[in-house]
Amino acid sequence: MNLTLGFIGLGHMGSPMLRRLVAAGHPVVAFDPRAEALDGAVRAGAAAGADVRDVADRADVVLASLPTPQASLEVSGGIRHGARIRRFVDLSTVGATTAQQVHERLREHGISTLDCPVSGGVHGAEQGTLALMVSGPRTEFDSLRTVLEALGRPIFVSESPGAAQTMKLVNNMLAATALAATAEAVVMGVRAGLDPGVMIDVLNAGSGGTHASRDKFPRAVLPRTFDYGFATGLMAKDVDLYLDEARSLQAPSDIAAAIGRCWSDTVAAEGPDSDFTAVIKPMEAAAGVLVDGRPTDSDPSAPA
Ligand code: NAD
Repeated sequence: MNLTLGFIGLGHMGSPMLRRLVAAGHPVVAFDPRAEALDGAVRAGAAAGADVRDVADRADVVLASLPTPQASLEVSGGIRHGARIRRFVDLSTVGATTAQQVHERLREHGISTLDCPVSGGVHGAEQGTLALMVSGPRTEFDSLRTVLEALGRPIFVSESPGAAQTMKLVNNMLAATALAATAEAVVMGVRAGLDPGVMIDVLNAGSGGTHASRDKFPRAVLPRTFDYGFATGLMAKDVDLYLDEARSLQAPSDIAAAIGRCWSDTVAAEGPDSDFTAVIKPMEAAAGVLVDGRPTDSDPSAPA
């Protein structure tokens, strides 16, 4: 028998994930406070929930993709009295402390929680190629594996609540570092007179290449579209969560602290809703250059 799924939080990531679950044949009840997001889910084949509690009254398993730890705590408060819900899968990045609070709060109501933060961006959500990092009861992971496989590759991290969140913050600290460091280095090269497109080609053929140079720069920085699909405010949140956890563990965090300043500068200059690839803009302004990789009329490789 197919489980009825609930899906709460239909943003950049949630909407394409919901579409994949519907396409895989799962009945889904959806909710988002933004009416246009909920309309999109209904057009994709989901039923509309009236609110968070209604989703938990109608679904066996509720998944959520929410922007902040506060939103995850609010939603866990709203679903805990749901008549039908037995399992909650939090796909959001919220940090280990919030994940542990959510586990505890729902356990008191007989609901098991899997932390399941994801990596791979909007493109990965659309293609079903996300990496899903999972912590919580192994038996729940095994029974929900086919649901998670509609979204990407589930990797079991540990039974400890919050462990997958720590793993996700480690991943995002490194992704943030690669993007900010590549931006700073490319700005320096352009200031010295190098061509940004040639720089990215060389980095990708050499040892300086990362996901930032292979995917983020060609897709959203060189064409100056700044539309990769992840908000600057969310990247700043993830680096801050990493720093909080590293400091509470008394682990070294000098590099993360410097990267955190890049993202807070970007929030101040470009706003929290700007795309996180805009991290290069304050660096360009400071150096007085523009990293523009769009083809010019005189470019022999430009399309006719
Ligand atoms: P988003 O801001 O685009 O979407 C969040 C959605 O949640 C919005 O539609 C909003 O209306 C809804 N929402 C907010 N508060 C709510 C509440 N209390 N109840 C119900 N719905 C609520 O964010 P996103 O980019 O889709 O990211 C979602 C999560 O996934 C974040 O935790 C983010 O860190 C993580 N993440 C994002 C990406 C990415 O590339 N965008 C990649 C990996 C992980």
